[in-house]
Amino acid sequence: ATSFSGKTVAVFGLGGSGLATSKALQVGGARVIAWDDNPESVARAGAEGIETLDLHQVDWTGIDALLLAPGVPLTHPRPHWSVELAKNAGAEIIGDVELFARERRARAPQAPFIAITGTNGKSTTTALTAHVLAAAGRDVQMGGNIGRAVMTLEPPAPGRHYVVECSSYQIDLAPTLDPTAGVLLNLTPDHLDRHGTMENYAAIKERLVAGSGKAIVGVDDEVCRAIAARLEAAGRDVVRISVTCRLEDGFFAEGRALFHARQGRTERLASLEGIGSLRGRHNAQNALAAVAACLTCGLSREEIQNGLRSFPGLAHRMEEVGRMGNVLFVNDSKATNADAAAPALSSFERIYWIVGGLPKHGGIESLRQFFPRIAKAYLVGEAAPAFAATIGEGTDYEISGTIESAVEHAARDAAADSAREVVVLLSPACASFDQFRNFEVRGEAFRQAVLSLAGVTPIGK
Ligand code: ADP
Repeated sequence: ATSFSGKTVAVFGLGGSGLATSKALQVGGARVIAWDDNPESVARAGAEGIETLDLHQVDWTGIDALLLAPGVPLTHPRPHWSVELAKNAGAEIIGDVELFARERRARAPQAPFIAITGTNGKSTTTALTAHVLAAAGRDVQMGGNIGRAVMTLEPPAPGRHYVVECSSYQIDLAPTLDPTAGVLLNLTPDHLDRHGTMENYAAIKERLVAGSGKAIVGVDDEVCRAIAARLEAAGRDVVRISVTCRLEDGFFAEGRALFHARQGRTERLASLEGIGSLRGRHNAQNALAAVAACLTCGLSREEIQNGLRSFPGLAHRMEEVGRMGNVLFVNDSKATNADAAAPALSSFERIYWIVGGLPKHGGIESLRQFFPRIAKAYLVGEAAPAFAATIGEGTDYEISGTIESAVEHAARDAAADSAREVVVLLSPACASFDQFRNFEVRGEAFRQAVLSLAGVTPIGK
């Protein structure tokens, strides 16, 4: 990192990202002092040649900036918390995305930089955008809140494209964030625990598009619509996307077709027909955003269509894992609450639904509208008795207990179904911690159970 050459930077938080960022700063000629409340992380950083000092105790005069690793809270119960100390001493408080933005400006200001945020669909849109660019032969680096920390990516160079997923937290700590194209997909009340109010949460997300060369904004919710109007009034270059209405100017979806309207002309850009990794209306929103972002990099319509078609999808998000005759097996383990399960339930017509785990407030009440699509529900984990009470009135169900037993029974029942296509869907609407370490392990257990069935052809991986 060259933008901090000769300066002193304190780094707090020495997980993978904090450690990598410390090293990058050091290589770039900064003096780095780093700390973490976990002694093991401090020891590891020390062993890797990073100077470690307790930032709660240190004298802050002469320290230019405090870099907070992702996930370090801005407020802290402990007295003499380093953020307060740094603030009082006049040091800047930033995150790794800010550091990356400065690096790009210093080294390769022309390098395309696409930054993506929103309440839902960030990872899918980020991975899809990077995939379409890479499929068209571009040099692409992807990271941020998905995959690798930004400071561990290849350094900015002319012609190198960056696709970066940004959490609210990363935007909050990036005061000069200036992507060439910024994407704000949608905003719904979520994560309010950390940001207090919806206004505050929205204001942070708005900053990403406000600083962008092109602001690509999903206008299907009220909050984002207002943001788009505000940016436009301020003279910014705004590109609207919608999956609910035909726009006069912008990108929209109708059925599975994607359109671009401008200056009175509407052009059909691409189709999502038959692309299993991009099922559902929510994925049309993600695809529109990715397409709009890729067009700012000069891709052709053909390159975009080809890239969309070959997108493998992300693991655990409506991921197709196997097929057995007319039965498709889909892993949506990432759906850890009812809202997150809704897109999958709305994407299939006849569903053998594996649901449950550690229940969240409200259970599956909000999913009632989808119950007519459920051929049968297979209830697992601690949520089973409560969910049986909700779904049991008009829908067939069994208490399966484990994912393995649910898969076995659901596969047997689905295979006997005469419908043209049926799906065995793991979309748990629950946390996984009653039976698994995390949602990834749960999704993997589902995949293994599916692949161990006789007659299943694997998809992907
Ligand atoms: P994020 O990175 O924002 O958490 P992901 O791309 O990982 O989002 O998708 C997580 C889940 O959110 C998906 O499985 C799906 O249920 C839902 N989702 C994805 N895209 C959207 C969208 N555009 N609008 C609403 N929900 C979405």
